[in-house]
Amino acid sequence: MDKPIAIVGGGFSGLLLASILGDEVVVFEEHGKVGRPPHCTGLVSLSTFRNISRLTGIGSEVIEGYFNELMIKSLSVDDYVVLKLSEPVVKLDRVRIEELLANIATSKGALIKVNHVVTKVSPDGAVLVKNQVGRFSTVFLAEGSSLRLSIFLNLCGKVIEKLVGAQYLLKCYRCPDEGIYVLTSSKLTRFFGWLISYDGKVLLGLITRKYPSIKLKYLLKTAVKEFNINVKEVIKVFGGSIVIGYPRLIPYLGNVFALGDAALMVKPISGGGLYGAVRQVMAISKSFNPPKDFNKLKYFRLMLTTVLNIYSQIKLLRLILSTYGTYDSLIRSLIKLGIKDVKVIDYDNHLLNVLINLIKLLT
Ligand SMILES: Cc1cc2nc3c(=O)[nH]c(=O)nc-3n(C[C@H](O)[C@H](O)[C@H](O)COP(=O)(O)OP(=O)(O)OC[C@H]3O[C@@H](n4cnc5c(N)ncnc54)[C@H](O)[C@@H]3O)c2cc1C
Repeated sequence: MDKPIAIVGGGFSGLLLASILGDEVVVFEEHGKVGRPPHCTGLVSLSTFRNISRLTGIGSEVIEGYFNELMIKSLSVDDYVVLKLSEPVVKLDRVRIEELLANIATSKGALIKVNHVVTKVSPDGAVLVKNQVGRFSTVFLAEGSSLRLSIFLNLCGKVIEKLVGAQYLLKCYRCPDEGIYVLTSSKLTRFFGWLISYDGKVLLGLITRKYPSIKLKYLLKTAVKEFNINVKEVIKVFGGSIVIGYPRLIPYLGNVFALGDAALMVKPISGGGLYGAVRQVMAISKSFNPPKDFNKLKYFRLMLTTVLNIYSQIKLLRLILSTYGTYDSLIRSLIKLGIKDVKVIDYDNHLLNVLINLIKLLT
């Protein structure tokens, strides 16, 4: 294994980092192709997308839609709350972006080894893959939400819950108006869903703890009625696991560094991890002088606000949920209070914005 740095996992975070470190790295990916099987919706704020662009040169060819607001709707009532966004949220083509990142990484000399499952990583940089041990000066664990290796090395922080996200991509004769609708329901507990209408298609999905396929079928039936959708065909059904938890400020042990979902750099409500992974890769690219020289203090300083933001938003969400019980009762209470428009929400730091707006409202 002739490269000094190993990246375990050729998903979004691993490939983003590989596209920057290039010749220094080998990426081990357990699947036969990068970007597959697809699992993610691909929503990020425009500024996160711009950061991806700055880091990699990837442009708008990966953008499938721009949206200026989120409509939050309880399926039990007719009304909804509109969250106006401070900047558009963009929907990325997740398979395409990973393919492009892999191309950039290989064109810069990185080796991407597909069908290579890493079964063990040690703090000294030893990596066990296909019964062979490779030794590396730095190992980035970008294994995603499986957390198999990062939990073992105690690198991922504190997991609160592991959820499942499931989605239908539908081609429609008749679609709702283009937009992002966030859905709650009094019938489905510990749940929220989303409907994204774009380009003659509807992406309908949900995040839940149990029985995702039964709940997804129920959601489809309800959404078809509620939004008057006429479905032509189901293009695909896909999804994956989503972790919610508190990230570690320094996800580092010996020569091993956790990245992306493996470091629990995920947002508090959606479990979305693209924002956190981009922040981490930006901080790594400024504080790492490959192959060995990692300025941990600089990384710590660069990541402090992001980690504290994620941390405090998770706390805030727990507090809100312990008061309201479910997302649905929260939305219905807002509707009852006559709150229909919440202005200027930052998609990546939405809860902090809600808190700031509430404080402004009360003072
Ligand atoms: C339904 C759903 C919707 C989502 N929507 C959004 C969204 O709208 N916005 C957002 O920001 N985030 C979203 N997310 C979360 C987002 O997909 C993840 O945060 C993101 O993919 C994390 O990237 P990653 O590289 O850390 O992990 P992954 O993308 O999961 O990549 C990990 C890679 O590591 C490989 N791997 C794992 N273990 C090993 C091993 N031992 N050896 C070799 N390879 C290994 C896996 O095969 C995989 O390719 C969603 C997730 C789901 C499930």
